[in-house]
Amino acid sequence: MSMEFPHLGIVIDGDGLNNVDQRLYEFKLSNILLLLSTFAVPRAIFRKIIAHGGVEIVPWNTQDAKQFGACNATGNQPGEDWPEMRAGFFTLPGRATVHYSPDTWMTGSCASGPGSKPDEILLHELVHSARFTGRDFNQKPLTGPMSGYGDEEEYFAVLVTNIYTSEAGGTNLRADHAGFSNLSATLSKPEDFLRMPENYRLVKKFCSQHPNIAPMIATANAAFNPVKTFYEWKSRNFEPDPVQWVIDQALTR
Ligand SMILES: [Zn+2]
Repeated sequence: MSMEFPHLGIVIDGDGLNNVDQRLYEFKLSNILLLLSTFAVPRAIFRKIIAHGGVEIVPWNTQDAKQFGACNATGNQPGEDWPEMRAGFFTLPGRATVHYSPDTWMTGSCASGPGSKPDEILLHELVHSARFTGRDFNQKPLTGPMSGYGDEEEYFAVLVTNIYTSEAGGTNLRADHAGFSNLSATLSKPEDFLRMPENYRLVKKFCSQHPNIAPMIATANAAFNPVKTFYEWKSRNFEPDPVQWVIDQALTR
């Protein structure tokens, strides 16, 4: 069996689990999807997924754990040949599979640090999926002060999830993709975050790649919303000066 959420572009499939576990998996996941669907940031991501096709969510299994570790999930696996596809449930070709189990992130050693709540991890993977289905997905490496993110895809997933965390009332934002540590206080105000040249470049890139959903994310009522700040600056033709940023850094040392 599987559960279909056509209005979100999502299919949950707990196949491979025993009967009771499969029902529990699908029940827990449908609750997390319901929670996400009440916020502007995830709604924008669902909108993009629907625009390109759909995403199937399946359990994080022992094979996944062997390959990527116990505390993990993935969102950029190519879509498999789902029964729902064969039945014409999703008619567009863009699809991805998320490997994720809410239980991984509910208790125990994986469940600590900013951005590690079950809803935050799922949204992180759905950002990967949304960009994968839309063929924007490109793991361009990030270096220097941005090396903690690993690559641009992780940057975008962490950025969008941080805006969601803030929209949901959270204040513990994730620093990067190297673990689950706190974003430094000096970067936690959206204006300060966006003044950093690499952040400005990447937020600008995200907004130009996603002219439909970036403005939706900008509407999120969140204290930390660099996408919103980007559009505010753009409306008054303001661009931060990268040289000034370097000077400011030297002065605050
Ligand atoms: Zn990721």
